[in-house]
Amino acid sequence: MSMKVFNLRCEHEHAFEGWFASGEAFESQSSSGLLECPVCGSSEVQRMPSAPRLNLAATTAPDKSTTQTADPPSGTDLQQMWLKMARYIRENTEDVGERFAEEARRMHYAEAPERAIRGETSREQARELAEEGIEVFAFPMPKGQGGPLQ
Ligand SMILES: [Zn+2]
Repeated sequence: MSMKVFNLRCEHEHAFEGWFASGEAFESQSSSGLLECPVCGSSEVQRMPSAPRLNLAATTAPDKSTTQTADPPSGTDLQQMWLKMARYIRENTEDVGERFAEEARRMHYAEAPERAIRGETSREQARELAEEGIEVFAFPMPKGQGGPLQ
């Protein structure tokens, strides 16, 4: 037989559990003054609102909701990605060095053929390009591999 567990509380705020065959059993025992607080012996016991727990002996299914989360990339992985990307940029862009801002501007105004370039700009030059609506992509190149890319 399954039992119902009610969370009960006496007039002195002592919380305890009571086991009953049904809600009616609780009501009759309570109204008859048969319920007593195990702490203070008070028969002023109230039922706390809670979901009844049923069939506590039933086996619980293993929790299959646990999901495996992928590990975030480690520092070594990021370093590898960075070096790989730097190599890709180096092999697929034309190094225009300090003429970068000038070349980017000429390409933007169709004065030079559109192509992928890399080079260096000062902070000031980068800001001017941005103000003219010329998008540049900043990428910190590894040392000795082409310098900073804009
Ligand atoms: Zn009590």
